Amino acid sequence: MGVYKIRKYGNPILRGRCRPVEKVGARERKILQQMAKTMYRAQGIGLAAPQVGVDLELVVVDLGDNNPLKLVNPLILLKEGESVLEEGCLSLPEITLKIKRSKRVMVEGWNEDGEIIKVEGEDLLAHVIQHEIDHLSGILIIDHADQAERMRLNTKLKLLERKSRGYISL
Ligand code: ZN
Repeated sequence: MGVYKIRKYGNPILRGRCRPVEKVGARERKILQQMAKTMYRAQGIGLAAPQVGVDLELVVVDLGDNNPLKLVNPLILLKEGESVLEEGCLSLPEITLKIKRSKRVMVEGWNEDGEIIKVEGEDLLAHVIQHEIDHLSGILIIDHADQAERMRLNTKLKLLERKSRGYISL
């Protein structure tokens, strides 16, 4: 089983809204497995389906225990507190931003067997979960940046966008 190509900023799928999964079957399990493999290969700690060109509500997360959390149709039930952490994104190479998010979250979704699961996360795990769920509605870390930060990133973003659309090859 191969790995997916990671879609970079400028690819329109990253700005779309994903469709909920109606039923978890062999196809969805395979996508989740391949997403996990792609995440490990890229040394990421989370990945959302649109980042691999799939417009379904699927995310994988692994903070390093080699046991990927696979979530289908994740929904945040509870948010608490505030936390600021530096985040990057596999679809926005070389960009990191300090992002303010909830410090604790409780999420509900299905696992790869279609069973309802609840996951609680704090600090880094809470950030990653919120980051990946953002992707499912087309939200990227740069959308959390203030205007000054966005100005600072402008050139990098323009380059990424052009590269992604194939105007230049670097
Ligand atoms: Zn991301």
